[in-house]
Formats: sequence, C-alpha cells, structure tokens
Amino acid sequence: MPIKSRWTVDIPDISLPTFLFGSPTVDLPTTPLIIDPRAPDDAYLTMTTYRLWAQRFAAGLLRNGFQKGDRLLLFSGNTIFFPVIIMGTIMAGGIFSGANPSYVPRELAYQLKDTGARFLITSEASLDTALEAAQMVGVDKSRLFAFDDGLATAAGQGKNHGEVRHWSTLLASEAEGKAYAWPELSSEELDHTSCTLNYSSGTTGVPKGVEITHRNYVANSVQIQYQNRLDPDFEAVTARAKLLCFLPMYHAYGLTVFTLNAAIENIPSYIMNKFDFVTMLEYVERFRISFLVLVPPVVVAMAKSPLTKKYDLSAVERVGCGAAPLGREVCVELEKLWPQGVVNVKQGWGMTELTCSAMGWDPTHTSESFSVGELNANCEALLLDDSGSEVSQGERGEIWISAPNVMKGYWNKPEATAETLTTDKQGKIWLKTGDIAYIDDQNRFYIVDRKKELIKVKGNQVAPAELEALLLDLDPVADAAVIGVSIEDEEYPRAYIQVKEGQTLTEAQVHEFMNKRVAFHKRLTGGVRFIDAIPKNPSGKILRKILKDAANAE
Ligand code: AMP
Repeated sequence: MPIKSRWTVDIPDISLPTFLFGSPTVDLPTTPLIIDPRAPDDAYLTMTTYRLWAQRFAAGLLRNGFQKGDRLLLFSGNTIFFPVIIMGTIMAGGIFSGANPSYVPRELAYQLKDTGARFLITSEASLDTALEAAQMVGVDKSRLFAFDDGLATAAGQGKNHGEVRHWSTLLASEAEGKAYAWPELSSEELDHTSCTLNYSSGTTGVPKGVEITHRNYVANSVQIQYQNRLDPDFEAVTARAKLLCFLPMYHAYGLTVFTLNAAIENIPSYIMNKFDFVTMLEYVERFRISFLVLVPPVVVAMAKSPLTKKYDLSAVERVGCGAAPLGREVCVELEKLWPQGVVNVKQGWGMTELTCSAMGWDPTHTSESFSVGELNANCEALLLDDSGSEVSQGERGEIWISAPNVMKGYWNKPEATAETLTTDKQGKIWLKTGDIAYIDDQNRFYIVDRKKELIKVKGNQVAPAELEALLLDLDPVADAAVIGVSIEDEEYPRAYIQVKEGQTLTEAQVHEFMNKRVAFHKRLTGGVRFIDAIPKNPSGKILRKILKDAANAE
C-alpha cells in the first residue's frame, strides 16, 4: 500500500502566469519584492512591475520571431531580472532553461544544442564563454543577447557588445507590455505544456532537460502554500518575512522558491548575484532576514565558522535546508546561534524531476532528527526493495513518488523517460527517484543512501556518465568509472582509470585534462585511482558498489 500524504488540496486549473499574477491587468502589490541588495532603494521589482517587465519581455520576444514552444536559454548568475526572463518566456508560450554560470564553453554548448534554444541571454561576465559555446554549435550571434552586470541598469540603457545586442532590445514598450495578455490554456494543455527545462542527470546518464509543466509548477506551489498555512502564526510570520536568495535561480530549488513561492506571498527577497559567505552574513544582518533557505554546506559553514557570531542574526526565525544529506548534529549546532527554542532547522527533500520538493515538515512540529519530514499534499510514495517489493516501516527502500508535481519527462529523451517514469495497473505514474529511505511510525522520511549514480558536490549535480565520457577522450585511457567518495559529510568525484597497455598516465595529467573541460564543482577532487580493470557486470554496466566499497575501505 502506498504511503499517502495526510493532506489533499485542490490544484487550480490555471496557467502558471495566471496563478502567479491573477490576470494581465488586476491590481497587484506595489511594495519592493525582488530586490538587488547592492542598491535596495532603487533596484527592485514589485509584484506589479515584475508582471509588467515579464509582459514586455513576452511581447518583445514574440515580435522578435519567438514562437510558441521555442526555448530560451539564460546563462547568468542571479539578477533581479532572472524571474522576469523566466516568466516572460513562459507568458510568450515558450520554454525557459537556465544554465550554471560556472559552465565552461563545452558544457554550455551541450545545453544550447540539447534545448535547441532560439535565444541565448547571458551576462557581460559570461559573454566570452557564451560566444564560444554559440560558435561550437553554430548559433549565430544575432540570437545572443547580453545584459551588463550593473544590475540597476540591466533592463534599461545597456550597451550592445558588437553584434551581440543588449537584452533590452528584446523588450516591448511599456504600453505594449500592459496590453499583452498571455494565452490561457485548456486543462489538457496545462498537463502537457512545458514551462522549463531544468537540467538533471536523474538516476543515470548525462544531464537531461527535465520538462516541468504549468500543472507541475502550480501544484508544487499550492502544496507548499498549503503546508505553510498550517502554521497558526502564518499571517504574522509572512507579514514580517524577508528572504535572501543566494541559491542559483537556474536550479529548481532557487527558481521555485524565489520566482514563484516567495513572490506569490509577496515576501521581499534580496537577490545575490552569487554566493559569498561573508556577504551573506552581512546581508542577513543588514536586511533583517527572517527566513534562511539553505543547502547543507552553508549550514555547516554557519555552524562552524567563528565569523557567524560577529553578525546580528536576531531577525532569523525560520531555517530550511534541502538538496543534499545533512546530519542532525550540525543543525543543533546552528540552532545554538539563537536563544533556545527560537530556531528549529527543518529539512526538506526534493528533486528537479519533482518540480522542486515532495517532502517537508508540518510547521507545527519540531524537528529533532535528520528526517526530511513527510509527504507534501497530494503525494504518494512507495518504498521498494531491489526485487520491487514494498518494505515494512523502518526498513530501507527506494522512494517512488506519484504526485501532480512529477515531471512530464526528459526533453527529447523518450528512453530515459521510460526508464524513470513507470505507469502502474491503475494508470498512476510513478517517478523512480533513486534515493533510499525509511519511514518512522509517523510516516516521516529519513534519506539514508542513493541508489543512483548521481554525485552532489555542495548541492550541485555531478553526473558520473558525463565525466566518464570525457575521460575516454584522453588517449591513454582504456576505460573509466567515476564515483562519489564521502569525506566528512561532503562528496567528492573520484575517477578509477584503466590505462591502455604500454601507455602511461599520471594523476596530474588527468586533472590538467579535466579541469579545462568542466566547471569547478565537477573536478576530480576525490582523486584518481589507476586499476587493472573497471568492474562491470556481463552487460557492461559499471559495478559502482565495488568501487565504493574499495573507496570506503581506504
Ligand atoms: P536535484 O535534482 O539537483 O535537486 O537533486 C535531487 C537529489 O538531491 C535527490 O534525489 C537526493 O539524492 C538529493 N537530495 C535532495 N534533498 C535531499 C535531502 N534533504 N537529503 C538528502 N538528499 C537530498
């Protein structure tokens, strides 16, 4: 029997822009909402201007030849216009995709080609990488746009960079924007029309575009709204809430929380271009941030660093964390920064393939374990052993999820979709998550292991298959396997390499080769080991467990 959420909530039959903004013309709040902390009094969007900029962008895109179903790729750190570009693309009937700004040209070229994006928008800082990537896949410069990094003026009077135009040249006038009414979709279209392609390697293979639909976003947001409102202090807590965003908005977590869930509650969010520990602490003090949305390495840094105590963090009343495993001990250490009982660190669990989240804490409960809470409203889960049988309470199994926030599938990858989504006899679709968990007698989940290949480095995905394919391009390599090795709660990618007979290869040569080809978080920081043969099963599948056991034995 599936484990069912305690809660059921109605999912409105409306598109994502209608869900977020009500309608193209209804009155909306005019208080600062999405704020650049470097110029908080001048550089911000309100709910009203967020919608208007998005409408201007949508109308402008369509005027520039963008068509329904076209993809737009954004390659940039966070800016206050990030949400505008996402929502504007969706309002125009397009599909948004965000790329990690630390990507090297090869990685960006992959996503550019895989999405088949009509337009690529980048920041001034990333322009050279974008140009190189565009050239690699034959994308003309006329399809590239840039904004400058002085964000206060990013939308306004920016300059063109040679043939690369400023992104503001894509914007329609204010009057046109106001008049732009995004199309409403039928119930069936809401189920099938994708809004975004967020990249994830899922349980196996290389990164893939995860198709998240209007229905997925609306459902996941309603689930979170419902759960937040169980808090008897919800109104008061929300009225004084302030958020700081340093999570990357190209990832499902940052995207959903800051462009959607915070906005719909009109909670001001200060948007950092990228993460910096000291600046983060300064902003928490200066802007009286009340809700910290964290990932494990930041929890650890805050708990352990003596710097944290130098800042006034007294406005903080809620702390949430997700994206990777986190022990309870470090949460307790973090909680000690505040008087006893003021802050309770609560973990949530999710996946790009689940829009953002599928498990979290009832706000009226106190977390005293490493549990990630219980299932979101309208979610069901199975915990299955290797033979596909359901395990009993307390026993470990792979999590499968059936819910309205389960992705439509992988972009242009029907086989990978079929491997990950399975339909049962009742017609219910289940997502195989590749995560191993058990539940307690209150149906709270405890994530204990990962069955899938995925490695997570500081919350970022690293796909072993991608690194293995690259290693095979290095001439002396006969065969290679990459696994994550865990050292003090952090994962590090490690390569096992079989060298061709008669050839030589050093660890330094491997690093030199790889570091040019991958973003920083994908480097082989777990080291390189040379072995006689990569362990494989008869069908050629790498037996990662054997390598993991060897690493653990070390
Ligand atoms: P992503 O799609 O990048 O969000 O990565 C999703 C994966 O991150 C999950 O399948 C888990 O392996 C891991 N993950 C997310 N949240 C947690 C958590 N709270 N505890 C342990 N692992 C997590």
